[in-house]
Amino acid sequence: MRISVVGAGIAGLSTAWALAKQGHQVILFEQNTIPNPLGASGDHHRIIRRAYGAGSGYGAAISEAYDAWDELWRDLGSNYLDARGFMAVSREEGDEAEDYLNGLREGGWPCEVLQAGAAAERFPFLDPDTIRYAFVSPEGGALHCRDIAFGMAAWLQANGVSLRQTMQVTEVDPVNAAVTTADGRHIEADYVIVTAGAWVTKLFPGLASDLTTYRTAVVYLDPPDHLKEAWRHAPVVLDVGGATDGYILPPSGEGGLKFGSGLHKYENPDADENRAPVEGEGETIRNLFSPPMRDIEQYRIESVVTCAYTFTSDERFFVHNEDKCLVVSACSGHGYKFGAAVGRRVAKFVEHGDFEALKGWMRAEE
Ligand SMILES: Cc1cc2nc3c(=O)[nH]c(=O)nc-3n(C[C@H](O)[C@H](O)[C@H](O)COP(=O)(O)OP(=O)(O)OC[C@H]3O[C@@H](n4cnc5c(N)ncnc54)[C@H](O)[C@@H]3O)c2cc1C
Repeated sequence: MRISVVGAGIAGLSTAWALAKQGHQVILFEQNTIPNPLGASGDHHRIIRRAYGAGSGYGAAISEAYDAWDELWRDLGSNYLDARGFMAVSREEGDEAEDYLNGLREGGWPCEVLQAGAAAERFPFLDPDTIRYAFVSPEGGALHCRDIAFGMAAWLQANGVSLRQTMQVTEVDPVNAAVTTADGRHIEADYVIVTAGAWVTKLFPGLASDLTTYRTAVVYLDPPDHLKEAWRHAPVVLDVGGATDGYILPPSGEGGLKFGSGLHKYENPDADENRAPVEGEGETIRNLFSPPMRDIEQYRIESVVTCAYTFTSDERFFVHNEDKCLVVSACSGHGYKFGAAVGRRVAKFVEHGDFEALKGWMRAEE
């Protein structure tokens, strides 16, 4: 089949990869370059971890995610996962970190619980007076997104996929499997797959009732000298406890120490707007992390990066089928780790056409 894929974030790259392996003729459109630094997949690193809340279903799906990454590493000839493990910190009874711990225990996945003093001894950036406990798991780490995007783009090109970078699709015609580009081309295929991330509602405004676009930002920090060594060896921090909804990626690959918090996001229907960091934004994000981090004011702001992404109301992944077109949105702030697996599942759907099976897997209800 001739298949057009619109959007080359991790979902589009992976879909093109899996389709090409099945022998399809693929054109991949990207409005920016690959990787697009403004896309959700364009930052340096993203967390992969098995911890999800009890009963979520996504925790079990991580086995397939790992399997898909392994297949990709074999194809690329390089492994872009820094498997440094992950940790989380609980500060209040029933907080998200505790929920993650319960999910790990439910699945029988490995983890080690450290009481406050022992946690601060192993991870000196923690203030032991502000935490209940921490837990550590060896399964997880940081995926190096930019290396993955460069590696995949090279693989796709070498394997016959037509990459159209800096070519924006302005219209999708699902009935005729056709796309129109900003420079006036009209390209017909047998099928179209839209993986447009936070820009999807520009092409399909009707999906705004299912997908809400948010703007957030992350801050890259230079830690004080006495904590640099601790961060160099730290696992990724999935959650800092309490209501902060905060996560941390230690320096890994080309990416520096990064702090991000779900509290910092706001609705932003146009993903191209509000993309410049505002005065003081880095300090605002950084300061959300005390407690439980000690000496927070000694972390120097290096840069602030804005991000755009979509959420569904229940934070499960979304697919929409319309004539000869499939729209895929695997995000809600946790989709990168499933990228390669999503691509494989979408490519399988093109063969078997069982939409309910695809939807069930995307929603982790399988
Ligand atoms: C701050 C933040 C932290 C996150 N942390 C994690 C994490 O730790 N772990 C995790 O698993 N997930 C995480 N996520 C979620 C993860 O980043 C996303 O689920 C994933 O990157 C989404 O990939 P995507 O390909 O669907 O979208 P995107 O990466 O946004 O890709 C969409 C692409 O489509 C292109 N495009 C859009 N419209 C058009 C058009 N009309 N024509 C041509 N091209 C177009 C865009 O330019 C873009 O490159 C995080 C997200 C954010 C924002």
